Amino acid sequence: MRTPSGVECDFYFTDYYRGREWEECRLLARSPDRAKWTPKLCATCPVPAIRRANRCPTMILKARIRRRWLFLRRVEVEAYCTLSGQPVAEPMVGCGRCHEHRMGAKGLGLAQAPESPPEPPSR
Ligand code: SF4
Repeated sequence: MRTPSGVECDFYFTDYYRGREWEECRLLARSPDRAKWTPKLCATCPVPAIRRANRCPTMILKARIRRRWLFLRRVEVEAYCTLSGQPVAEPMVGCGRCHEHRMGAKGLGLAQAPESPPEPPSR
C-alpha cells in the first residue's frame, strides 16, 4: 500500500471504510514502539527501499523508533536471516546464504567455497 510519503510499503495499512480513519505500520504492530508511530515516520523509513532492493523470503525485518535529536524520530531496522541464523549486516544486499541453494549456483560460481581445499587426486 502507498504510504503518505508516496512510496509503496508492504507494512503500511489503512482503513477508511465507513468513516474509519485507521493507519498502521504492521512492522511495528508487535513492537513496544507501536504507540509512538505516526505516518510522518514513513517519509524517512528505510524499509521500502530495503524491500525494493532485497525480497529475500528468509530475511526478517525488525523495526524500532529511535530519537535522534530533541524532536527528530526515525525508524531503525535490523535484519535477521532465518536460513543462516545470523543478523544481516547489509539488509539491502542480504547475507547471500540463500544463493547457495539455488539451482545451478555451483556452475555459476555462486556457491560458497568448501571449508577445506579438495584433496589432490592420488596416483
Ligand atoms: S514506518 Fe516504514 S515500515 Fe512502517 S509503514 Fe511506514 S514505511 Fe512502512
